[in-house]
Parts: sequence; C-alpha cells; structure tokens
Amino acid sequence: MTRDTFLVPDYYPSFHCKGGSCRHTCCSGWSVTLTEDEYFRLESLDLEKSLKEKIEAYVAPLPNPTKDRYARINFTYEGECPLLSLRRLCRLQLKEGENALPSVCRYYPRGPREGSRPECSVSDSCEALVELLFSSEKPLAFRKEELTFDFDVPKEERTEKEIELQKEAFRLLSRTENSPLLNAKDVARHLGSDLSFSPAYEEAVLSLLPLSFTRSASLAPYLGKGSGFDPRKAEQKLSQVDPSFPNHFARLLVNHLFFTGFPALEGVPSPSLSGLVLYFLVRFYEDLSYPQDFPTFDRYVDYTADFFRMAEHSNFPEVLLSVLSRAEQETGETLLPTEK
Ligand code: SF4
Repeated sequence: MTRDTFLVPDYYPSFHCKGGSCRHTCCSGWSVTLTEDEYFRLESLDLEKSLKEKIEAYVAPLPNPTKDRYARINFTYEGECPLLSLRRLCRLQLKEGENALPSVCRYYPRGPREGSRPECSVSDSCEALVELLFSSEKPLAFRKEELTFDFDVPKEERTEKEIELQKEAFRLLSRTENSPLLNAKDVARHLGSDLSFSPAYEEAVLSLLPLSFTRSASLAPYLGKGSGFDPRKAEQKLSQVDPSFPNHFARLLVNHLFFTGFPALEGVPSPSLSGLVLYFLVRFYEDLSYPQDFPTFDRYVDYTADFFRMAEHSNFPEVLLSVLSRAEQETGETLLPTEK
C-alpha cells in the first residue's frame, strides 16, 4: 500500500475510463503481466466454471518469472483480453469487483512512481486521455495530489539535473508559435544532439522504422501506406483534421515526456540520445499520419492513441537506436549525436 503526495498533470482529477463505450479498450493487443502475488490470488479465486476455464487457458507464468513480472494474461486470436464480455466489459470485474483485478488493470493508464519526487502520470495510449488532452488548448500544467494505491508503487529516482532538463523540454514543446517538429528539434539541441545529419540519413531511418513495427498490434494497421517525408505537408494536413493541432500536440508530447520520465528513458544511456528519440518520435508520428484517412475526429484520436500505445508500451527508444545504427551502415555516414 502506498499513500503519498504525487505530482500529477492538472487534468488528473477529471480523468475517467470510458468503460464499455471505449472504442479500443486498453487490453486490446496487449497481454497484461501479473505479479507473483496477483497470479496466485487469481488462481485461487472461487469463480464460475467458464471464467475459471478462461483463466486456466490464457493465464500462464512467464518463461523467466520475477516477483514483479511473474505471469501473463495472453490475448485471444483476435488480439483481445479473454476476460472481456460481449459488451466489452471485464467479466472478472463484473463478477468479483475491482479488488480482484491485477493492479495494471485497476490503475492503467495511470503510471505512479515513488522516489525523490513521487509522480503519477497517465499514458497517451488511452483514447479517453487523448480526448481529455484535446479538450483544452492551454499548455499542460502540473499540481500536487494526495493519492493512495493498494500496492507498493515502484521507486524511480530523479536527479535535479533531469528535473531541470525535463522542465526546459516542457517549456520548449509548449511554444505553439513554432511547429511541433521544430520544438522537438530545439529540445534535442538543448540536450546535446546537433541534428546535423543529411536528408538521406533521415529518410533511411524513417523507412527502416516501420519495418520494426510490422508485427505491432497497434501500429500494423497504419503501416504500408507509403511515406510523405515532408513534415510541413503532414503538419498542414494534421491542422486540417484538428485546427488546434499545435496546441493539442504540445499537450500530448508534454504528457508523454512526463509519463516516460524523459530524458531518463529506459535503455537510453544519455540525454542527448533521448533528445534524438524525441525528434524521431515526432517525425515518425507525422510521417505515418500523412497518408492516413481521418474521416472523423474519432479516427484521428484512435490513430493518436494507437501510436502512443506503441511509443509508451514497446521498447521504442531501443528500437530507434538500433535503427539509427543500421541507417548509419546503409548510408555510410557516422551521424549519431555528439555527446556534450
Ligand atoms: S483505453 Fe482508456 S478509456 Fe479505454 S478501457 Fe482503457 S482506460 Fe478505459
């Protein structure tokens, strides 16, 4: 059990899951992991026969289990959680109440962490959150909230330097007089990436990236539609779909950085490389969005949530760094950023 004062985004008290009316429930295409305690608690529940059979068929210990990542709820052939009812509600929650759920299902898309600065973020991968972020044009702000979690929230330390770099990144990304890509470039420069690579190198990275996600449940439907490689045109198109695109996208990015703990990204050894990851993340989002059809605003929201589902729940930074070194081999250029 954890009770503390957490730094949260200002919208935090207004966030609510849409439940059965969600178009893409968070358990779609994503196998939920359970702690050791949760696994054995689930196994020992006295449930009705059909639910028990589902759990036996789909919940299995991981090959190299640890206390925190012990087992997994595998998804069905259709890529859904096997415990979803026909009305797209969780059968386990309906029968046994919220307390029976694994913590990730109870608290997702919230991401609490303890440490020198307790923080609780919310993931951009949830459509309700994207809609909430898109409901205001104001720069995202933060506040303190007293929160309780009925599990031990993991610890993640932040250094003063990382907090300062994060604040500056928020400030640079929130300037809506610039395009989002220019803002991301400025963040990367501030963190020590000189971004002096040639267009051929950038194109090599952007053509290799989709290949790494062909099997991603959230991104696969958007791949293979060709690539624009023209960020200006992509931003114009996104502004037609959403006239407040720069403001809304700035809110999304600041929220994303807070969620991931930027610039201290997992698997990324330096802030300058984190800056490069951010730059290519924005570039990839724009590049992928350009050939898409967004006949309704909902479709654009879905695309955005799907994109960030990949960005926040896959090892995107590590994939990008390996794509960068492959692109270096292909182009013969040595262009990874110079460390400050
Ligand atoms: S994606 Fe968001 S709105 Fe949809 S079920 Fe998950 S938490 Fe609820």
